[in-house]
Amino acid sequence: MRLPNVLVRYLGEFKTWIKLITFYELAMGMKVTLHHLLHYKPITLQYPHEKRLLPENYRGMLALLRYEDGTDKCVGCDLCEAVCPSRVITVVSAEVPGEPTKRYAKTYDMDMTRCLFCGLCVQACPVDALGMTREYEWAVCNKRDLLLNKEQLLAIGDRSFPNREKRLEFQDPNVAFFNVAFPGQPLNEN
Ligand code: SF4
Ligand code: SF4
Repeated sequence: MRLPNVLVRYLGEFKTWIKLITFYELAMGMKVTLHHLLHYKPITLQYPHEKRLLPENYRGMLALLRYEDGTDKCVGCDLCEAVCPSRVITVVSAEVPGEPTKRYAKTYDMDMTRCLFCGLCVQACPVDALGMTREYEWAVCNKRDLLLNKEQLLAIGDRSFPNREKRLEFQDPNVAFFNVAFPGQPLNEN
C-alpha cells in the first residue's frame, strides 16, 4: 500500500527532527574518531631508523659498470647522452691508444640535479654499461656534490653491482670488435 505524499513528507521531517535533537551526525562522527583512536595503527615510518621496502623495479642512483676484470664497459658511443631528455650526461670519447677501431669514455659526467630517473639512458646503452641502483639517500647541502664524474659513477657501480659480467669477447667472439678492453685507462683529469 502506498502512503499518501503528505504522510511521507511528515515522516521525513520527523526523522530529520529526531536526528537533530539526538545529535545523530555528531555521534556518527565521534564513532569514526573513536574507532581510529582504539584501533590505532601508525603508518608513519621513523626514517632513517626504519626504511621502506623498495619495489623490485626501483630506479635509484645511476652507476657506470665494469667487466669482471675491472675494465670499463662504456665504449663512449654517446647514445646515452643523445637519448637523455634532461641533458644530464656529458661524454667525451677518445680512441684507445694503439687501437684505432676502439673507443672509450675519456670523461663521463652526470649532473644528477637534473635527472628524472626515467631509465632511458640505461635502455639506450648498447653494452649495458649503465645501471640503476637502489640507492636513494643522496640528499646533499651543496648541489655541486651531485655533479658526478666517471670515477664516482664507477665507484657507485662497484658497490651496487658486485657481480660483474665477463668481457664481451669471452661471451661471444663475434662482438669482440666492439669491446674496449682497455684496463689502463687514464683517470679523469677533472
Ligand atoms: S635516467 Fe633519464 S633523465 Fe636521468 S640520465 Fe638517464 S635518460 Fe637522463
Ligand atoms: S654508457 Fe653506454 S650509451 Fe653511454 S656512452 Fe657509454 S656505452 Fe655509450
